[in-house]
Amino acid sequence: MIDLRSDTVTLPSPAMREAMYRAELGDDVYGEDPTVNRLQKMAAERLGKEAALFVPSGTMGNTAAVLAHTGRGEAFIVGDQSHIYHHELGGASTIGGSPRHVVATGANGMLDLHQIQVGISDGSDEHTAATALLCIENTHNRCGGTVLSVTQVEALTELAHMHGVAVHMDGARVFNAAIALGVPVSTLVRTVDSVMFCLSKGLSAPVGSMLAGSRDFIRRAQRMRKLMGGGMRQAGVIAAAGIVALEQMVDRLAEDHENCKQLADGLAEYPQIDVDAERVVTNMVVFSVRNSEQEPLTEEETMQFLAKAREHGVLMGHIGEGRIRAVTHYGLDADHIRASLVGIRRALLDL
Ligand SMILES: *Cc1c(COP(=O)(O)O)cnc(C)c1O
Repeated sequence: MIDLRSDTVTLPSPAMREAMYRAELGDDVYGEDPTVNRLQKMAAERLGKEAALFVPSGTMGNTAAVLAHTGRGEAFIVGDQSHIYHHELGGASTIGGSPRHVVATGANGMLDLHQIQVGISDGSDEHTAATALLCIENTHNRCGGTVLSVTQVEALTELAHMHGVAVHMDGARVFNAAIALGVPVSTLVRTVDSVMFCLSKGLSAPVGSMLAGSRDFIRRAQRMRKLMGGGMRQAGVIAAAGIVALEQMVDRLAEDHENCKQLADGLAEYPQIDVDAERVVTNMVVFSVRNSEQEPLTEEETMQFLAKAREHGVLMGHIGEGRIRAVTHYGLDADHIRASLVGIRRALLDL
């Protein structure tokens, strides 16, 4: 079975298993786990931020970030296609009492600057919650792993900062973005106030994400992590895999991008598949399927197609509105890509 549902299905490398076994441990709630401390220092340096915090998941990292940036009743701006808006249960609003203001997401994950400008409130109008934070996403998941450039990130942060609004980057796959752009990750996140990235996706660690920002921000985020029950004890067991992820698994993401490009180019040759292979720049491709009459598949038919693909050895995910997502990752090579194209062709023939 070739699993293209997500890069979260990656298993830890042998070097990670070894590092986990040997990890030096302590109680991290006392700040005494040397392995967690090392990972946090390493992540902060890599991102060019003062401090970093190890969190159990990307969702907790994003939620802790929003809580740390906004007070109760202070609003944050998010894109209507963002992970924070779609896939995190509205956590920051539920736990922290921060209303969200939603703006449109462009095709490549860029947010509309004019809508942001209009959406920012300084709180002088008694009807409107004051805006404290803007959240951006890079790479952009629901847009198909698209990348915001350094210039785009700077345009967003400049606008927000001009109004005294902080910026958090949901950078679950920010290393994929940096590699696609060919820039150091620290350059890409230089102007944002905080950034979260996942160790447990393309970087292949079993568990964990990192949140980075100023020392003062991380101190507040650490309290929010505790509030959500995310204070972990001998967390060095999993942090050890995170260290290996940063040391050994970042540069190889380029292979995933190359494999995804092959996959997208292969899909583009099938007349029943609608895909914009040009837009595939990282490890994701989003496409939809038409039936033999060239009509788009209904939701039900899309699910049937996915079941057929599964029978032919290929697992992929449905992300709504007939859109199918395939993600390349550690553990898959060019042969797997060729085999999955064969499986997908067979599933198309079964339609
Ligand atoms: C996966 C993901 C997250 C959340 O990470 P989890 O570890 O699954 O909670 C946040 N943002 C984006 C863009 C993601 O793809």
